[in-house]
Amino acid sequence: MRISYYNGEYVNHDEMKVKSGDRAFYFGDGVYEVVRIYDGRFFTLDEHADRLMRSAEEVMIKGLEREEIIEILHEIKERNGITDGALYIQVSRGIAPRDHGFPDGSKPVIYASIRSSKRPEQQMESGVRAVTTEDYRWLKCHVKSLNLLANVMEKQHAVENGAKETIMHRDGVVTEGSSTNVFMVKNGILFTHPADNLILNGITRLEVLKLAEENDIPFREEGFTVSDMSEADEVFYTSTTQEITPVINIDGRKVGDGSVGGTTRRLQSFFNKKITELISVKQS
Ligand code: PMP
Repeated sequence: MRISYYNGEYVNHDEMKVKSGDRAFYFGDGVYEVVRIYDGRFFTLDEHADRLMRSAEEVMIKGLEREEIIEILHEIKERNGITDGALYIQVSRGIAPRDHGFPDGSKPVIYASIRSSKRPEQQMESGVRAVTTEDYRWLKCHVKSLNLLANVMEKQHAVENGAKETIMHRDGVVTEGSSTNVFMVKNGILFTHPADNLILNGITRLEVLKLAEENDIPFREEGFTVSDMSEADEVFYTSTTQEITPVINIDGRKVGDGSVGGTTRRLQSFFNKKITELISVKQS
């Protein structure tokens, strides 16, 4: 039986009942995280827990305990016996009659679940197509908010145009993908949007920047335009579940020579090494 956690209880996932006053349900009033496990080991769990706490703080959700989050994630992993997959955890502001203002005295409601998934080997190997559109989201994109309607619309735009991801821009400056961070490589230098309020500072983004630093790949956290991107040698996007995915075609035009670039390949291999190291720690 698949076990999830909701509002203080471990429950049968298929029969779980959501409280009608849960503000996640009415308003998307909450924050969330997705955490990857490889061979039973959490990848960058501390970073995800820290970001969840920061997101909660940004939207003034009070009373969340970091240790409780960690404990629930471990418990969900163990109870479901899944070794390769992704955990989802969301925290809503609480349960109360529908009213926009924060309710008095409500406690945050935690939901967590897990599902097994494989690494996206094929797309990481061959690369994907992307399309671009205007980024019309709010100005707190650094918060991992449950409100994902704009991101959902942007992703659907990709689906309807035979692409895997939509790369968004504000006044021409590339911000991020609908559920990923975007990088380009030009003349051997890696570029990505700075971690300000216009993007989610992805945990995978930070891992890639760390790997670039450790391996002497020059990088700049600097905005670049859609036009710059159209002249890039390489483009890729990153996320917890998509890892480092090369983009070989944008808006119907080839990126570089249309094959996966050397810097992208190097970063993918460094990232793979991290995962191998994580797995081997368990076995020793
Ligand atoms: N940007 C957005 C808008 C996202 O939804 C995500 C994935 N949740 C990311 C970037 C990538 O973040 P991470 O590497 O932490 O998964």
